[in-house]
Amino acid sequence: MSSDLVIVYHRQPYEEAIENGKLVRRVNKSPNGIVPTLKSFFGRVDHASWIAWKLADDPSAPEFEQKVEISDEYGQYTVSRLALSEDQVREFYHITSKEAFWPILHAFKERYNYDPVDWENFRDVNKRFAESAAEEAAEGALVWVHDYNLWLVPGYLRKMRPDVRIAFFHHTPFPSADMFNALPWRREIIESLLACDDVGFHIPRYAANFVSVASSLFDVELGDTVAVDPAFVSEATALTERSIRETIAHNGRKTAINVCPVGVNTDYLDKVARAPETNARLAAIRQELGKSQLVISVGRTDYTKGGVQQLEAFERILEANSELRDQKLRLMHISVSANRNMTAYAEIQAEIEQVAGRINGRFGTFDWQPVTLVSRALPLEELVAYYQAADVAWITPLADGMNLVCKEYIASRHDEDGVLVLSEFAGAAVQLHDALVTNPFSHRSMDRTILEALRMDSLERRRRMRRLRAAVKSDDIRTWQPGTLELSGPTKNTAAA
Ligand code: UDP
Repeated sequence: MSSDLVIVYHRQPYEEAIENGKLVRRVNKSPNGIVPTLKSFFGRVDHASWIAWKLADDPSAPEFEQKVEISDEYGQYTVSRLALSEDQVREFYHITSKEAFWPILHAFKERYNYDPVDWENFRDVNKRFAESAAEEAAEGALVWVHDYNLWLVPGYLRKMRPDVRIAFFHHTPFPSADMFNALPWRREIIESLLACDDVGFHIPRYAANFVSVASSLFDVELGDTVAVDPAFVSEATALTERSIRETIAHNGRKTAINVCPVGVNTDYLDKVARAPETNARLAAIRQELGKSQLVISVGRTDYTKGGVQQLEAFERILEANSELRDQKLRLMHISVSANRNMTAYAEIQAEIEQVAGRINGRFGTFDWQPVTLVSRALPLEELVAYYQAADVAWITPLADGMNLVCKEYIASRHDEDGVLVLSEFAGAAVQLHDALVTNPFSHRSMDRTILEALRMDSLERRRRMRRLRAAVKSDDIRTWQPGTLELSGPTKNTAAA
């Protein structure tokens, strides 16, 4: 059955697990996070499709059905799974996307590894995603493509299906031309993106960078300049941009530039935060904490997240402020290892363990360990209890497209207390004007802001948290959409709100 909405996202929209020797699909229970957010759009059309990849021993004869038909609380949809071999996944995802694109997107040129890239494989995989989308899309359908590992899909798809509307959303930062143009495939990537009807970014700066990259590579025609909504202008952050172009045209096609920061499901987080089980967890955490102040830090183990630099700041403040030692302060550092098999991530994990161990060794006592390091993912329900117990959320990435953890922290604080210390290099910083903004590259800035947060008086904390909550609420998940493009087909109720 053809679909009015086709979502092209590299992961499947559920988790697969083996239960009693049988493969089962587990639907995401929580409506928070990117996959359920994308699925919530299914409820707006009669039938939708999702294109993803799945590992196969032999991609020419996969041991699974290529298409599965699903009907659940989100709607009716087909999941089309492209069979990729282990080698194809390694080349396409772990090498091209993670070793070449990821460092450039986050402005870590020194980590950029160009030589092992198999560009033909990247093209092939993207082309297969495009073919699959072309097969699923109804006449005039909206095909919504997500993230840099599918950069070439719009270009291929446009040739196969000139009738469909194509939107593309970047979930990462988009760097300046000086950085982006280090990619030797820059023209091919940008030409593909310019085949879209709409290209989306979290914040105005990334949109402006895209326009300047495209202008550096092609003779493009730029649309009107418009002033950025004051809600996205924060004087304190490095990522603020004051104006953006509305459109960019190339080869006779006009592409809308869409700025739409992704938010969190504030209603759901509020519900979890008020649930009796969460209250019980919170009481237990508070009892364990006693008189200690709690700082929480949550992120993936990735060099972009600045985990090592943050732990080093923690060590410095314990060293310089003896009054914070001995049961006065605890740091819960949750750093979830995602790509364990990749050297770059394994190194960061080892460094984090080393610094955390050193801090505990230097300052810890029999009944006080300053750092609690957690390397596995906690369920959101448990995180929410820690968010509520934490006097400070310390979110200090070196570069981050948006950062949802800081918004979850705010959405969980119905008590209107707690301080957010946020890196000025997280996309969220342009929206969260009442965070204490810090520069994770500066020792002085890191040390000063965390101390300021720990010492902030209750009136000031509440004044800031009330405003932060209003900002997170006004741009929550419901306001996020595929840019200027309308979904076709009869409107139905959105599921899983
Ligand atoms: N997360 C989680 N359990 C953990 C740590 C993180 O469920 O132990 C979730 C967190 O709630 C958030 C997401 O992982 O929704 C991280 O999103 P973010 O945008 O902050 O960072 P990303 O990993 O996408 O760069």
